[in-house]
Amino acid sequence: MKRIALFPGSFDPITKGHESIVLRALPLFEKIIVAIGINDLKKGFYPVEQRSEWIKTVFKDYSDVEVITYEGLTVDLCKKLNIRYIIRGLRTSADFEFERSIGQMNKKMLPDLETVFLLTTPEYTALNSYIVRDIIRNGGDASQFIPDGIDLHTTQKYNDQAAH
Ligand code: ADP
Repeated sequence: MKRIALFPGSFDPITKGHESIVLRALPLFEKIIVAIGINDLKKGFYPVEQRSEWIKTVFKDYSDVEVITYEGLTVDLCKKLNIRYIIRGLRTSADFEFERSIGQMNKKMLPDLETVFLLTTPEYTALNSYIVRDIIRNGGDASQFIPDGIDLHTTQKYNDQAAH
């Protein structure tokens, strides 16, 4: 069976932190599926199609990186796609506590599933999508936090009312 890993998140928008996790996880897996979770209760900042397009652009030279969107439980998606590994990044102890309970609950629901954690590289510890959204919302320049080759300013389509 192929070693396929799912990297789930909101990627609203993708940052250099996300990019770094995917690139560092690539040698461990034959394929990585970046999965944008759609949450009915939480309308995103950028439209899902736009987020997906940006991620595809970032990994256009990597045939072993795929981008999908999904609704519902991540474990259900893993079952459906026969995926046994989830990748998550760890920035802080707060991330750890949050991820530990999700990872343990997911394993209860799908015992074959393993969550693989990669520590963030020091330069990206403080980076998260929320900060990037805040910069954009306030008219700032977030380009240094975003992967090369994409420009968040090319779209005016964002939801200013999106919850943090
Ligand atoms: P964010 O927390 O930035 O809103 P997501 O909810 O899309 O991002 O997170 C998806 C995954 O990416 C999570 O496992 C998260 O820990 C990881 N991640 C996000 N930013 C970074 C970063 N700067 N360094 C390492 N991992 C990160």
